[in-house]
Amino acid sequence: MIAYIALSASGDGIVGILYSVAQLLGVYFCVTLHEYGHVLAARRFGIGAVDITLLPIGGVARLKSMPRIPWQELVVAVAGPAVNVVIVTLLLCGFLAFSNEALLYAFKGALTSAISGQGMDEQTLRTMETVLMRPSLTGYAMMLVGVNSMLVLFNMLPAFPMDGGRVFRSLLAMFLSYRRATWIASRAGLLCAAGMAFFALNSTPILWIPVLIAVFIGYAGLAEAKQVDTMESVRGLTVRQAMIPTNVSIPMDTPLAQIFRVWQSHPMHALPVVNDHGLVVGMLHLRDVKLAITTKQDVLTTASELVDRKHYLGPARIDEPLENAIQRGSRQVRQIPVVDPGGFLMGILDLDSMLMRAELATDDLLRRDSEASIEPEDLINGKMLTPPNLPERPNDFSHFDQTN
Ligand SMILES: [Zn+2]
Repeated sequence: MIAYIALSASGDGIVGILYSVAQLLGVYFCVTLHEYGHVLAARRFGIGAVDITLLPIGGVARLKSMPRIPWQELVVAVAGPAVNVVIVTLLLCGFLAFSNEALLYAFKGALTSAISGQGMDEQTLRTMETVLMRPSLTGYAMMLVGVNSMLVLFNMLPAFPMDGGRVFRSLLAMFLSYRRATWIASRAGLLCAAGMAFFALNSTPILWIPVLIAVFIGYAGLAEAKQVDTMESVRGLTVRQAMIPTNVSIPMDTPLAQIFRVWQSHPMHALPVVNDHGLVVGMLHLRDVKLAITTKQDVLTTASELVDRKHYLGPARIDEPLENAIQRGSRQVRQIPVVDPGGFLMGILDLDSMLMRAELATDDLLRRDSEASIEPEDLINGKMLTPPNLPERPNDFSHFDQTN
């Protein structure tokens, strides 16, 4: 990125190159401060940050979670753009204090023409050009004012999951359920993204970067809405209700030849590997076993050499809330071992079939409730012959593929 900017400015000599690089660094510095605004606000509510990534199209602060209390999310979302507002205010104050009269006059002229939509007069135009085109401190400050103002305006668009969209969601969540608020906000965000893409594609030349950003917003918004949907549907359930009860595990010193045999009788994508004390040390993925076989590794290769320790974030406790346990999963980790308080294996939480199991568990509870209320006459009249829940609601299964 820096190399590209330097190259495109190379016609202006070494000063031009350095100035362009300084401009770029200035912009990214402001983007970083914006992200720190989010991170510090989240920290006040006890939510840590994973990292801050700077992308060619902006920055992303990854938080461990989003505050679920609407006013807290509002504060976290507003904190980023608020930083840019502060930067703009400080720069403008500095500008007013230090620049000369001619510049101030020109700046005022430019501002009025921008607001009224009329063209600038000759004098203003020339001064502005001189300031903005040639390397100067004033030009640099004005560029940053422009960039920061853009950052505020752009981020406050109600395009979930951008800041404005989060503000929108948190306001909705004050009156609606969290799930419903997210659904509406993500659809509004999709509309925004589609509008943005439409305008960018219809302009000449086509503005590819806004198109890219629109695609990113659309994708990220839907992904987060889906995630919220999953989290809300497991709210109140424990790991026990969604796990596959099993105590099948692979001891660390099991050789490759035997490992495959275990799989044939327990077809899962991953199985837990345990140490001599029966404690889980990680998950062994079928794909890794297959890879070891196809790359013709020694048949004496043991489970402890193949086990995935890198992505493993520890087991889920059996009575832990399901929504906590799910957060240990990732694209690589779809099966999580479940242990009792002593650390011994009780089952496997399979993230891909978890929702179905969770729903069956709730159905099961409902059925037990309804059975308890059945009167003895019902039994005599044969009403028990038709189970109350099973045949009536086959359509419910259509949304089980949500987690994929
Ligand atoms: Zn932001």
